[in-house]
Amino acid sequence: VVKSSSSLHASTTEKLSCQMVELFEACQQQPSDLERKEVCRARLQQDIQQIFPSARLYLTGSSMNELGSRCSDADICLVIKGNKKTDALRVLGRLLKLFKTLSYVERNQLIRAKVPILRFREKGSDLEFDLNVNNTVGIRNTFLLRSYAYADLRVRPMILVVKKWARYNNINDASKGTLSSYTLALMVLHYLQTLSEPVLPSLQRDYPESFNPLMNLDMVPEGPKHIPPYISRNQSSLGELLLGFLKYYATDFSWDKQVISVREARAFPKNNSKEWNNKFICVEGMQFIGSNRPQPPPFNISIAVRNVHSNPTVTPFVSEPFERNNVARAVHEKLKFDAIKAKFAESCRLLHERKELNSILPFRAII
Ligand code: ATP
Ligand code: MG
Repeated sequence: VVKSSSSLHASTTEKLSCQMVELFEACQQQPSDLERKEVCRARLQQDIQQIFPSARLYLTGSSMNELGSRCSDADICLVIKGNKKTDALRVLGRLLKLFKTLSYVERNQLIRAKVPILRFREKGSDLEFDLNVNNTVGIRNTFLLRSYAYADLRVRPMILVVKKWARYNNINDASKGTLSSYTLALMVLHYLQTLSEPVLPSLQRDYPESFNPLMNLDMVPEGPKHIPPYISRNQSSLGELLLGFLKYYATDFSWDKQVISVREARAFPKNNSKEWNNKFICVEGMQFIGSNRPQPPPFNISIAVRNVHSNPTVTPFVSEPFERNNVARAVHEKLKFDAIKAKFAESCRLLHERKELNSILPFRAII
């Protein structure tokens, strides 16, 4: 299957590619943005250590994975040894009080999601923070995505444009039942991995030691440092890839029957629970948080498999590369899921008809 749009004239996709590069260059996170986040992270760590002396703060998400834009928030994982994920609310409750006393923090609020977070802003600026407690898988997957971002030059503009497109079309908000940015990034990676001439490999398969799920957290950024860029024979332009991506999810990918696995660089059938059980329990059976102390499994795999079966047609299933739960679980309403699929189909059609990015993502709406 050639997932490109050979039906479009080359100059058309060329124009689309130029627009994508232009958008990427205008929007990508700048070194000064990261510096600002880092200064705030270090200051917060010092203040938090006054009540939790072992606390360490790690920047995660698009601030660190090279897929961020100038307006991306700063995701932070607070690692406290000896605290279970279940204690997160208690820890965040204490931080909520502490933050009220900090002169550089404002609009401090506790969000009781499945992974609870403290959301706040740097005073007097529009820099937003989402802080979680001991959700350390976010540190591991941040450096996995960062490695994919470095593996091929096309990855960063592809994901950034897709995120902007999804945001513009109101399908990029997990708290409103649509797709998180993280899910969208995994969807793009999956598409690039499964082209007949892949743009990306499975890095976890090719470099298992660099992405060992038991690696000490402080080593996680070091693990993938020496992975060379992937040499792909796929020469498709960004424009061709964007069109192919939209078409893949609008018409080719079977949402009802398939699970996306970036770890395996393939899709596998939703009803293949044996595969889930055999492959993942032994690999992911233990996790180390900040030290060499084994922790219980981070989630119950049988629940994940049951969820696939209990609602096989409604929920998209995009597997988390380290923990194997469904990162797209927020999309549980059929109406929302249908709206997402409709956006892919509509944008695919518009691009074919009008052949430019402005038809699906007006540049001025973003800058
Ligand atoms: P944006 O630029 O829009 O902020 P982002 O890359 O920061 O995008 P988010 O969806 O905000 O993406 O997620 C931030 C980080 O949180 C991800 O990079 C990932 O490390 C972690 N994360 C988010 N959702 C999950 C999940 N379901 N399971 C595990 N980790 C997750
Ligand atoms: Mg973020």
